[in-house]
Amino acid sequence: MTAYMDHKDLSNETIDAARARAIGDGVHRTLDRIADAAAAAGRDPSTVRLLAATKTRDVGEIMAAIDAGVRMIGENRPQEIVAKANGLTRLCAERGYTLGAAAPTDGAGMHIPFHLIGQLQSNKIGKVLPSADVIESVDSIELAERIARRATARGIRIGVLLEVNESGEASKSGCDPDAAIMLAERIGALDGLELRGLMTIGAHTDDETAIRAGFAHLRRTRDRIAASGLPGTARCAELSMGMSGDLALAIAEGATIVRVGTGIFGERAFI
Ligand SMILES: *Cc1c(COP(=O)(O)O)cnc(C)c1O
Repeated sequence: MTAYMDHKDLSNETIDAARARAIGDGVHRTLDRIADAAAAAGRDPSTVRLLAATKTRDVGEIMAAIDAGVRMIGENRPQEIVAKANGLTRLCAERGYTLGAAAPTDGAGMHIPFHLIGQLQSNKIGKVLPSADVIESVDSIELAERIARRATARGIRIGVLLEVNESGEASKSGCDPDAAIMLAERIGALDGLELRGLMTIGAHTDDETAIRAGFAHLRRTRDRIAASGLPGTARCAELSMGMSGDLALAIAEGATIVRVGTGIFGERAFI
């Protein structure tokens, strides 16, 4: 169990008004940055969705972000999903929203997708499937097959993104860029999964050219997969790339989802 979870009650639902206001300001600032970056890139802002990266934040903080306009959330750790899912699902339902895997059967009301964006060990798949509707961190055929088996056994189909390590940094998860197309095609063929697109974490550098090159390569890879015509690749459309520091570069290169934590909630007190 991660140590910070002992210091903070992640299921807490009540935050003070000043904190809620600060989070709301963070959401509005981030949405403005997205709109500006989309305009600068000649893109329709509605083609870029904001995912709030909510690791270390409690239920009350996350609901403040939703109340300010966040319409997609992403968690890194299965244990955090377990700690927050009940509270988030109930408070979303009070507002007429469905969350994550609790998708509406009649298409009524608003749905807030719930993504896993952090590394997933196979013994934790069972913690994720009841709540998440997309796993963004699939980076091997072995992991994809294990998720597919569990999803099939539950009679569900879960969305996945293939995570690609575009920067080649050893500290990062994600598959080798040279293996991405082959892996995507194999994942697309698995029952129980729906390949929705690709994900990457930008290079850890101040060199904007290098960061952009990784994002551009992810876009070209997505285009090649979607154009392959192979079974299960037709819905490979998402590009989840860009965080608080590099979202404008990612939007310029075609991001459809940007994942923002500190830009909304402020610095993390725990890693
Ligand atoms: C924490 C995290 C983010 C958000 O990072 P910030 O710099 O806080 O915006 C995005 N993606 C992943 C995978 C993360 O773990």
